[in-house]
Amino acid sequence: MMLIFIADAFDSSLPSLLKKYGEVTDDKNKLPEAEIALVRSKTKVTRDFIDKAEKLKMVIRGGVGMDTIDIDYAHQKNIITHNTADASTVAVAELAFAFMIALPNNITKADRSIREGKWLKTELTRTELGGKTLGILGMGRIGTALAIRARAFRMKLLAWHPDVRFSDFAEIRTHLEDVLPESDYVSLHTPLVESTRGLINKKTLALFKTGAYLINTGRGECIVEQDVADALKSGKLGGFANDVWHKEPPENSPLFDAPNTILAPHIGASTKENLLRIGTVIDRLIDEYVAHIRKG
Ligand code: NAD
Repeated sequence: MMLIFIADAFDSSLPSLLKKYGEVTDDKNKLPEAEIALVRSKTKVTRDFIDKAEKLKMVIRGGVGMDTIDIDYAHQKNIITHNTADASTVAVAELAFAFMIALPNNITKADRSIREGKWLKTELTRTELGGKTLGILGMGRIGTALAIRARAFRMKLLAWHPDVRFSDFAEIRTHLEDVLPESDYVSLHTPLVESTRGLINKKTLALFKTGAYLINTGRGECIVEQDVADALKSGKLGGFANDVWHKEPPENSPLFDAPNTILAPHIGASTKENLLRIGTVIDRLIDEYVAHIRKG
């Protein structure tokens, strides 16, 4: 009988949805017996994980990106790998947009000040999104969904994408240097690859407009945390919202005592709707896998 190992937090309906295929467990001790493993971003499918899972035939990452899976080693062991790339688009775009509204409206500062007995009516001035420029780095599914939302708020859209020349929703610029100096907001949506590791660093931050807002719902390693913290302290950045970290959960990040930040524990994909969509995609992938085995 097939054993499906659920390593991370999915919708609570997932085990009953999948029990038609065999036994479903979240017991880590059963990893060596598992034929299919379901992970999100918490569990890293390393060489060590794969070596322990002697019967593993398929890994499904509930989410976008495969950077948490040692793909080469998995394929060497004939393990099929999938993600659920389309499912998370709206969830992440809405979080990036929520950050974009929360930062210039001082939502978290206002809330905190009231609880601290302060009345900062004069101090907490706000700015509007309307008429501002948003620079999107990585104009894929999430970047495009964010652009559509930003257009409805009458923002001007620029996007950096080295390979794409046209978008219905943003003016594409092939060089980063042509996006950063004009953007009041910069939102990161590139995958983590060698050319995007540390993309936001001292050098690229120098190109930002003074007082610009940076939003990162992409990957933690795409920014150099110390350089972003320094830019916040010097006022080069007006604010920063972050969902993703070098190490999760983060320890002693320089961002903890930087001003004007909103920090989140990688919740971009965690909407109820998305977790249900991810479950549906997983069900389809396992169904296809079972049909494939039966065909021989
Ligand atoms: P996508 O593949 O549709 O879009 C990524 C875009 O970046 C593509 O258009 C791609 O061509 C472009 N790109 C690739 N390499 C680039 C480079 N070197 N420079 C500039 N652009 C480059 O992916 P998506 O669904 O939009 O997701 C984007 C990223 O969001 C994911 O890779 C993942 O890291 C992150 N993400 C985060 C969460 C979260 O919970 N915060 C959830 C899902 C995805």
